[in-house]
Amino acid sequence: MEYRRLGKSGLQVSALSLGSWLTFGNQISDKVADELMGIAYDAGVNFFDNAEGYAEGKSEITMGKILKAQKWDRDSFVVSSKVFFGAENKGPNQMGLSRKHVIEACNGALSRLQVDYLDLYFCHRPDKNTPIAETVLAMNTLLQQGKILYWGTSEWSAAEITEAIGVAKDYRLIGPTMEQPQYNLLTRDKLEQEFLLLFRDHGIGTTTWSPLASGLLSGKYTKGDVKDTRLDMKGMEWLKDRTLADERMKKVGDLQKLADKLNVSLAKMSVAWCLKNPNVSTVILGASKAAQLKENLTSLEVLPLLTDEIMLQIDEMMGTKPVQ
Ligand code: NDP
Repeated sequence: MEYRRLGKSGLQVSALSLGSWLTFGNQISDKVADELMGIAYDAGVNFFDNAEGYAEGKSEITMGKILKAQKWDRDSFVVSSKVFFGAENKGPNQMGLSRKHVIEACNGALSRLQVDYLDLYFCHRPDKNTPIAETVLAMNTLLQQGKILYWGTSEWSAAEITEAIGVAKDYRLIGPTMEQPQYNLLTRDKLEQEFLLLFRDHGIGTTTWSPLASGLLSGKYTKGDVKDTRLDMKGMEWLKDRTLADERMKKVGDLQKLADKLNVSLAKMSVAWCLKNPNVSTVILGASKAAQLKENLTSLEVLPLLTDEIMLQIDEMMGTKPVQ
């Protein structure tokens, strides 16, 4: 496993990490979740991603039970949570980024995950109803209480992150260390364009999500069968429509041909492509089956095959590279 600095911080995260969205406490049994975390940890994964909103808190409960049962040294792994969407209750103060909810959500995550502190704590989305300064101050309270070690954002704009950095500077407080954006062959703008100054001037790290665009970039949907996948889950119609859009399917077909030529699976090629970007600190993998995770965890092997020439071919094929 390769380890990368989380931006300019001193924290080292495994280049591949494991997330629990849709899977833990929902699509998969706790037994499979335990198996997945064991496979990941044994392969050198040191970061496990979670959020209060995943399966309405049940994802954290499952991960907490596993962490407790595995008895891994606390200093050998990094665990996150995110605040914004609320856990099981969705009252007006049980969501968002107010001081009240940021503090209470952290206490909730600590008890569900059965840990004394969160290594990473993210604002899962921006909150138009809370001044950014209130959230920055609340995060710093948690830092001072030792309940979190680093705080960051997810799916915030560069302008919002820059404002948070400015507020922290004004108050001589600690600003965001990392952002969690979507990044894959189909969605590139934030990492490759919007955030460039944040990387250069502020050393923001990234923990990127959906490297396979919800499984699409494994190539498995080219025959249109969604049985036994997340796209077949109740309430996931929105994800199915978005994932299987016609123009995406054509691009995946072209990518598959290139992967065949390189003699690697498309899933591995797609994950490796994310890792080529030096502004990616860690690619968060998702998996509902042990075989998927085992395959994706060997993606680093594909890096040497992604030469400048191949990267250019991919850019031309996809048409998703942002115009500089
Ligand atoms: P991916 O885009 O990689 O999708 C993972 C899913 O794709 C798996 O659960 C599985 O789904 C399928 N899959 C994975 N590997 C293979 C393979 N080798 N062959 C075939 N199918 C495969 O990642 P996620 O969307 O799960 O995102 C990863 C993590 O990122 C999440 O767990 C979460 O921690 C984080 N995240 C954060 C968000 C945010 O807003 N901050 C938003 C979304 C995710 P299936 O069961 O359908 O086969």
